[in-house]
Amino acid sequence: MNEFELIARYFDWPSGERQGVGDDCALIDLGERTIAITSDLLIEDRHFFPGTDPASLGHKALAVSLSDLAAAGARPRCFVLSLALACADPDWLRSFSAAMQALAQRQACALVGGDTTRSPDIGGARGATTIGVTAIGEVDRRFLRGRAGAGAGDDLWVCGELGDAALAVAHRRGELELSPADARDCGRRLDWPEARVELGIGLRGIATAAIDVSDGLIADLGHLLARSGLGAVLNAPDVPRSTLMRRMPARLQQRCVFAGGDDYELLFAARASDRPAVMALAQSLCIAITLIGSFTYDLGLKVLGAPDFDATLRGYDHFADAAGPPSGEPTR
Ligand code: ADP
Ligand code: MG
Repeated sequence: MNEFELIARYFDWPSGERQGVGDDCALIDLGERTIAITSDLLIEDRHFFPGTDPASLGHKALAVSLSDLAAAGARPRCFVLSLALACADPDWLRSFSAAMQALAQRQACALVGGDTTRSPDIGGARGATTIGVTAIGEVDRRFLRGRAGAGAGDDLWVCGELGDAALAVAHRRGELELSPADARDCGRRLDWPEARVELGIGLRGIATAAIDVSDGLIADLGHLLARSGLGAVLNAPDVPRSTLMRRMPARLQQRCVFAGGDDYELLFAARASDRPAVMALAQSLCIAITLIGSFTYDLGLKVLGAPDFDATLRGYDHFADAAGPPSGEPTR
């Protein structure tokens, strides 16, 4: 059972809300208004290496939720912060909170609550640091957007560049050598992601569907296609990547760019007639936005321009290689 089968099987309950499980944000109608809600966890040794700079953790823990708000075209409003810490280290807390506050102020997203607890030692080992952020944003009722609205013939766009964060992970795991300058460049993409909040808002009324790329392009495009009930053609050579990435071996590039994750760029659908609007937005926000394919009635993903494309590439899945249930637990 993978992560998404698990969610679908046990937690995708009927809710009656406008949009719920299976999208970047839940959309909840409140009278005249609709709000977007999203929740993300960062867990030590799972989402970040032990010893990671607490400032980057403070930034990233909020940025990943802002990225989900961006996918929904929501303007950040406020968030709650849940922390489980092995100890109360003032230096760690000062750096963590200052970086989180800097991003919160920049995005006008107020911290309005949370929960703080000590994570227990287990088997003599220090408990893991766990950071949970639940963010709330405001959407424009006229331009509601999720993963499901793409139409056949729509263009497929992505902003920024993909893969550098995954390259940094590979480097930190000792899988490849990088110069200190290259390691710093891709490490920045991993540690200090920028949520595309202004782009997400600018795409109101232009994007027919969107998702933020957090688990890898192939995986997140898969979610967009499944929710929209469509297939797509992807022009592999057009998928944007950094000059650093272009210097990497082809196989590694493919793995990082198509299946890497932690990019936090927006992947979205827009009508072909809206190409000028997308390009004007890219120019006004000084963000690279690249046309990488199109949506089709034919289901499945057709990857063009890469005869050596590794069809087994998948994105990040928290339970992909996990064992089954403990004995005695029924599989429903
Ligand atoms: P994202 O990468 O955008 O944060 P995820 O891949 O983590 O989204 O989650 C996929 C979908 O499943 C989202 O809609 C999320 O809200 C939902 N989801 C994840 N875990 C649970 C859970 N335990 N209960 C209900 N919904 C969940
Ligand atoms: Mg998301």
